[in-house]
Amino acid sequence: MANLKLSHIYKVYDNGHKAVNDFSIDIADREFIVFVGPSGCGKSTTLRMIAGLETITAGDLFIGDTLVNDMEPKDRDIAMVFQSYALYPHMTVYENMAFGLRNRKMPEAEIKERVTKAAKMLDIVDYLDRKPKQMSGGQRQRVALGRALVRDPKVFLLDEPLSNLDAKLRATMRSEITALHKSLKTTFIYVTHDQVEAMTMGTRIVVMKLGYVQQIDTPMNLYNSPYNKFVAGFIGTPQMNFFDVTLKRYGDGVAVGFSNGDGITVPYEAVSKIDKGYLEGGVPVIFGIRPEHIEINRDGDGLKFIVTGVERLGNETILYGKLGDSMGEFSVKDDGNSIIVKLIDRDDIAVGDVVYAQPKHNKLHFFDKETEITLIHKIPLYNTVAAQLGGGRLAALGKETALPEAIGKHVSDGAVELIVPPKAIVKGGDFSLRVAKIEDVDGEKLAYLQDGDHYLFALVDEGVSAGDDYGFSLLYDKITVRANGEELVSPISDEVSLEGRFSKKETRENGERVLHFYYNIGNYSVETVKENGYKINSIDKDHCYDYTYRYVIDRDNIRTVTDGGDGLDVTVEEKLDYIGVCYAKVRTDEGQQFLIKVDRDFDGGKLRVAFDGADVSVYSTKIDMKLC
Ligand code: ADP
Repeated sequence: MANLKLSHIYKVYDNGHKAVNDFSIDIADREFIVFVGPSGCGKSTTLRMIAGLETITAGDLFIGDTLVNDMEPKDRDIAMVFQSYALYPHMTVYENMAFGLRNRKMPEAEIKERVTKAAKMLDIVDYLDRKPKQMSGGQRQRVALGRALVRDPKVFLLDEPLSNLDAKLRATMRSEITALHKSLKTTFIYVTHDQVEAMTMGTRIVVMKLGYVQQIDTPMNLYNSPYNKFVAGFIGTPQMNFFDVTLKRYGDGVAVGFSNGDGITVPYEAVSKIDKGYLEGGVPVIFGIRPEHIEINRDGDGLKFIVTGVERLGNETILYGKLGDSMGEFSVKDDGNSIIVKLIDRDDIAVGDVVYAQPKHNKLHFFDKETEITLIHKIPLYNTVAAQLGGGRLAALGKETALPEAIGKHVSDGAVELIVPPKAIVKGGDFSLRVAKIEDVDGEKLAYLQDGDHYLFALVDEGVSAGDDYGFSLLYDKITVRANGEELVSPISDEVSLEGRFSKKETRENGERVLHFYYNIGNYSVETVKENGYKINSIDKDHCYDYTYRYVIDRDNIRTVTDGGDGLDVTVEEKLDYIGVCYAKVRTDEGQQFLIKVDRDFDGGKLRVAFDGADVSVYSTKIDMKLC
């Protein structure tokens, strides 16, 4: 039994190919985690790094509480099952299963006990004397599972174990492996390219594409709330339908306009989490709807399409169609006008029929056309707020308040848009709006604050309920100010990024040789913890002393030095007053600029700042990679 932690894991192969990027996950004891994605997305590489069969380029891998990056595979207490079974052909099933235990010099009596127990669990007792070639694919895969089982490992790793089996046997083995997981009460990590296996077996699924994690979630969350178009299309069969559309709000409704000129209307409430910038008719977006979430009618209500194909599967009927009412030229290429509908217990529709599709309003998906990220986040990423600036005052959300100096400096009087993330709305202050609704989102309370005819989304405390007037203020340093589409003021991130060199020094302490590693930024040389020094050295080898690194520090971990101690010398260029908090824009002697937090009465000049080496994250400037 074990939990696992993968923290910012990268794999760069010797030929420079980045197979896995910034993979992080906490896996709880007894979870059944599935890595899924198309061929080449980095699933096996990640599994092999966990097994110790592949080195980890950067990042930390913990099994239990132990860092195992450099631990031999045999010492990791894991067992791996491969697609190819990897059985020894000249040995019997018994010998195959006993092999690893004999290598460990386990007493024969205990081996026998373990092999018999595993064989019983897997229903292969009658085959123990056979050779692999006298068995079917399914039986061989059971032997491979048995060989893993007898080792009683903390973690089971399974790499496409069912790919070589036919569809029926795969379905049987799927449920057997799920049952095995339940009875063993062990952590399973399972790699597959088959979304049905992923959905049916995983307690959580990691969807990967081109070396990047796309989403980590429970099967139902992946299905209901895919983070992007890729996940939406990968999970579910037949695949989700996608259409290029524009959205325009009319009172309580939103018109969804398709590229062929047709359109449907959906209630505003169904899409109220979409930022209003997308609802003005000018921005192209992708509309997604699953085949099983479309209702069909003949009375002209909905999106018109002509049925070009019908598959009757018993209780289920799959319709294939083209938007509009003409069959058009036949093409297998999806031109964006194709539609697939899954109907249950309905078979009155035939090829050539012209029918109307009505999407279920609580099952709509929308994605940004460029980033392909969902527009309906459980917690909206930001709110767009219209504001008017004038004479050092800011009018927004039905109130007029003082305008922070830091914003006034960069923005002329007139109309602006404030881009306000929910986390920048905090209890108590000048503004007040009525709470229309409260939603529980993964343990957080999301308030729908009524702002005219739309909502402002904020995270609130337990005590707040629908109907309350909620008093709040804005964290101005966390918002973006835009005018005429141009970003005039950007939010201040919580981190500072500085470039510098890396060095080492050797000293002798009590006759022992001791290594010290330093991050060198301007005149400041800050020692870092040895493990991080070794990490950087092991990744970039001796080049590390020639390379430039990007050092990232939480702003809250940067302190000013007043007692003459070591630090980075900077000159204050500007003070930025955001009312609640003040920053100084500073410049190092070599010209790097960053912001530090200061008191409101701080009055400029020269400063010395410092931070601890252990608080610094280090990134390569050669490739996009976190080293430690
Ligand atoms: P998956 O298991 O998702 O199919 P892999 O983890 O096997 O994908 O591979 C991820 C990527 O890394 C692929 O593009 C593959 O070609 C590449 N790759 C795998 N092994 C090596 C290697 N030894 N050297 C270089 N590239 C590799």
